[in-house]
Amino acid sequence: MSYPAVSAVPAPIRIPVREILPWAVLVILLSLITLYFISAEQGAVSVFANSYVHEFVHDGRHLLAFPCH
Ligand SMILES: [Zn+2]
Repeated sequence: MSYPAVSAVPAPIRIPVREILPWAVLVILLSLITLYFISAEQGAVSVFANSYVHEFVHDGRHLLAFPCH
């Protein structure tokens, strides 16, 4: 009875940083924009004059314990 030759040591997977870096920057940027709109979009620092964005993320703001009113 013969077994096929199988390598016992798995080959390491290489993930080049150059391929990940643009996606990591995009995810970080989108996360920071989302965090801004949830945490600080109101009053003097608001991007939009109306309060639609603030009201849209209002429950998330309270869920994450950001001060609101
Ligand atoms: Zn509130």
